[in-house]
Amino acid sequence: TLTERLGGVFDKLTGRGVLSEKDVDAALREIRVALLEADVALDVVKAATKQIRERAVGEDVIRAVSPGQQVIKIVHDALVDLLGGEGEPVGLSLEGEPPIAILMAGLQGSGKTTTSAKLAKRIQETQKKKVLLASLDTRRPAAMEQLQQLAGQIDVAFLPIVPNQRAVDIAKRAMNAGRLQGFDVVILDTAGRTSIDEEMMAEAHDIARVTNPRETLLVADALTGQDAVETARRFHDRLPLTGLVLTRMDGDGRGGAALSMRHVTGLPIKFLGVSEKPDGLDAFDAKRVAGRILGRGDIISLVEKAAQNVDEEKAARMAKKMAKGKFDLDDLREQFSQLKTMGGLGGIMGMLPGMNKKMQAQAAAAGMDDKMLTRQEAIILSMTKQERAKPEILKASRKKRIAAGSGVQVADVNKLIKMHRQMADMMKKAAKGGRGGLAGMMGG
Ligand code: GDP
Ligand code: MG
Repeated sequence: TLTERLGGVFDKLTGRGVLSEKDVDAALREIRVALLEADVALDVVKAATKQIRERAVGEDVIRAVSPGQQVIKIVHDALVDLLGGEGEPVGLSLEGEPPIAILMAGLQGSGKTTTSAKLAKRIQETQKKKVLLASLDTRRPAAMEQLQQLAGQIDVAFLPIVPNQRAVDIAKRAMNAGRLQGFDVVILDTAGRTSIDEEMMAEAHDIARVTNPRETLLVADALTGQDAVETARRFHDRLPLTGLVLTRMDGDGRGGAALSMRHVTGLPIKFLGVSEKPDGLDAFDAKRVAGRILGRGDIISLVEKAAQNVDEEKAARMAKKMAKGKFDLDDLREQFSQLKTMGGLGGIMGMLPGMNKKMQAQAAAAGMDDKMLTRQEAIILSMTKQERAKPEILKASRKKRIAAGSGVQVADVNKLIKMHRQMADMMKKAAKGGRGGLAGMMGG
C-alpha cells in the first residue's frame, strides 16, 4: 500500500526539521504510482503531483506524526482541493422563470437515465418542485420505456412517448408541456453513444439551443480509466456543461476519473451515484473521494488520525505560552491527554530529536507509560483551579488532600510537581533556542 511504501521512504527522515525537495520527490514517486493505480489520467497525475510538491517542500516536519503520515495528509488535502474543496457541495441552480431545463449528457451506459430519475426524485422530494421527466433517446430500443418505468416508480411525471419524433422536437415538446402544465423543472435524458461522434455532439448541441438548460450535467462512470479525460474534454468543448455526476461510486473503482474530469473541465462534481436504486444519489463529498483515490481504509484512518493529532493551532498557542514560561498544570494535563492519543510516551520518545535508545530505556524504566499518564491526569484533576494555575501554592496540606483525592501518595504528587517545573524550564529554553525539544515537537 501507499502507506507502506511511504513508510520506507520516510524512515530515515524522522527527526529532521523540514521536508526537503529530495524527501518529497522520493515520496512523490510513490504517490504518482498510487494515483495511476487509482486510474487518474497521466497528465492529471503530473499536474497534481506538481501542486503537491509545491505544498510539501519546505513544510515543517510535525513531529507528532511520522513524516510519511504528514505527506499523506498533505497529499490528501491537496486532492480535496483539486476535487473542489471541502465546503458545501455545489447544488443545482434551479432559480428563475420555470420551467428550468436540466440536460443530461454522457456516453451510453454512463448512467444518464438512472441519474435523471434519481435527480427528479431528489428535486421533487427535497425542494418540493414539480418535475417532468422526458426521454430524448431515440436511438436505443426501449430507452424511453426505461425512463417511463422509473418515473412511475418514483411518482414523477413523464412526457408521453410519441413515436418517430426527432430528439430536438421532443425537447421542444417537453419545454412546452412544462410551460403549459406548470412544471418547475424539466429533466431531459438524452441518447449516448459508445464513443463520442460528431452526430451525437451536434444533436446535444441542438437540444441545448432549443431548451436553454440551466444545468447541463455530464454523467460519467467512475470506473472510467484513462479515457475520462478525453470524454470530459470533448463534451466540454461542445456543450455548456455546468457540472459533473460520477456514477457507480459503489463499484470497485478508486474513482480517479473524478479527479481527471474535474481537472480537465474545472467543473464542480455535483453528485455521486452510489447504487442502481432511485435513491442512490449522494451529494458530492471531496474528502470521501480523495480518501478513495488514495486507497481504502488504512490510509483514510491514518489521515484522520494525523489530522486529529496535528491540531496545529492549539500547538502553536501552547508553544507561545511556553516561550513566555507560562505553562501551568492545566497545560500539562492537556499535554498528557494529547500524548495518549499519539500512542503514548513510548511513541513520542521515538520521534523526539536527540532522544536516544538509552534515554528511551530510562523513560520506560521510570514507568512513563499510558498508565502513568492516566495517574498523572488524575492527580491534576484533584487540584483546584487555582492550584493548577499556580502550582507554587501547593503546600503540605493541599498535597495531602490531592493525594487522597486521586488515590496516590504525597510523594507522587511531589514528583508530578517537580516534573512540571522541569518541563516548564525545559520548554522555556527550547522555545528560545528554536525548534528543539518538546515545544518544537508541538509545532512551535
Ligand atoms: P445510460 O445509457 O447513460 O442512460 O445509462 P443507464 O442509466 O441506463 O445505466 C446503465 C446501467 O448502469 C444500468 O444497469 C443502471 O442500473 C446502472 N447504474 C447507473 N448508475 C449506477 C450507480 O450509481 N451504481 C450502480 N451500481 N449502477 C448504476
Ligand atoms: Mg439512457
